[in-house]
Amino acid sequence: MPARFAPALIVALLLGSLNALSGAAPAALPYPWKAGVAKATVTPTEPIWLAGFGSRTRPSEGVRQDLFVRAVAVQDADGTTAVLTTLDLVGIERELAETIATQCEQRFGLKRDRLILNVSHTHSGPVAGLVLMPLYELDATQREVVRRYTQFLLERTVATIGAAIADLAPARLEFGQSLAGIAVNRRRARQRSLPGPVDPDVPVLAVRNPAGALRAIVVGYATHATTLNDYLINGDWPGYAVAEIEREHPGATALFVQGCGADANALPRRDEELTRAYSRILAAAAAEVLRNRMTPLAGPLRTTFNRVDVPFQTPPTRAQLESRLQDSNRFIRLHAQRLLEELARDGRLPDRYPYPVQVWQFGRGMRLVALGGEVVADYALRLKREHGFDNTWVAGYSNDILAYIPSRRVLEEGGYEGGEAMIYFGRPAPFTPEVEETIVAEVRRLIRHTDIVPAGDGGSPQVRR
Ligand SMILES: [Zn+2]
Repeated sequence: MPARFAPALIVALLLGSLNALSGAAPAALPYPWKAGVAKATVTPTEPIWLAGFGSRTRPSEGVRQDLFVRAVAVQDADGTTAVLTTLDLVGIERELAETIATQCEQRFGLKRDRLILNVSHTHSGPVAGLVLMPLYELDATQREVVRRYTQFLLERTVATIGAAIADLAPARLEFGQSLAGIAVNRRRARQRSLPGPVDPDVPVLAVRNPAGALRAIVVGYATHATTLNDYLINGDWPGYAVAEIEREHPGATALFVQGCGADANALPRRDEELTRAYSRILAAAAAEVLRNRMTPLAGPLRTTFNRVDVPFQTPPTRAQLESRLQDSNRFIRLHAQRLLEELARDGRLPDRYPYPVQVWQFGRGMRLVALGGEVVADYALRLKREHGFDNTWVAGYSNDILAYIPSRRVLEEGGYEGGEAMIYFGRPAPFTPEVEETIVAEVRRLIRHTDIVPAGDGGSPQVRR
């Protein structure tokens, strides 16, 4: 028997069987968590432009799969409540995320640092809010459809977060990880000399009731959701994966948390059967973790959120922008037009962006780092190397999908993620190579802020300030 099957686990298994034989009540909870779960559809009810690809030329033509907002609320013994919310969307931008957060604070007393909004990055969901607007040419009718949908999404999301909080009841939390081989570093597809890493980890947070039944299964993975690109609404492979996990675990709600998958694709693609295949791979990895790799989490829960300025390179001048209005590339013309309007309105173009970084620390067992934007794999691998591969979960695509977030390596190599992609997000210029150190240093600072260190001599954990 491998060494990791520790005596404590064997004792726990034996006690479990004894309990089952004698019909005794389950042992006391390892930690008095409470948890609540909620889920609602956010499927558009009318034809709407689908997000993520610039190549689509007309609105959606039907629904292949419903889209959802899903929320898990957790509360520690001190009453600290936080809600992890996942959305089947390509992105959510700062304005919409902050409107949701403000309403949640007003209605439920939920502070900003206690709400994570993560998107799956499905490229078969609707355009919502302002994300990637320079990528689409919407007429007045379509803009109005997007405005209506965004309002509906806002209301549904806030209501679902409220429903998760209202559902709080005694719970066990468990964490474990596996690996899955769905992601391919996609930079090689554009330039074969540019292979790069992926983050193959499958972190799983299980929420069980006191008797052990699964209520929620939160699963992370890092790769684009770009398998399908037609005109039917669906959650792409992450949407199929959570549906598969829910089928395998009746009564439980599954949530997908997108990781640092900006430079990864699930390949090959463009086929619904492949989408289902990737979903089965993720579901199998999650099932493996749930079967034999879970460790109970204790509290307390510590949360923090901050914005740190990341600098852009020198923005183009008015003369440079005016000459781009003649460019043969439609997107470069639209981008120049937009920046000229910004310049006329504000007198200058921004030289930095207030980038959101969030850390949740679950006792000493697991920390969840949630980063804004489309984050490349280098960040996940570096942060796990610095803070622990076993208990650090790094999500991207959280709170504000402002742009791609390249590492220093990706910026220096060149290519889409650090360069051309900035156009589609309407940003004035690429980030400077300091983007990586700036973000990594802020994560380090927030982890120090939330870290729970032993008090020594078996005392209760203390929060280091
Ligand atoms: Zn993307």
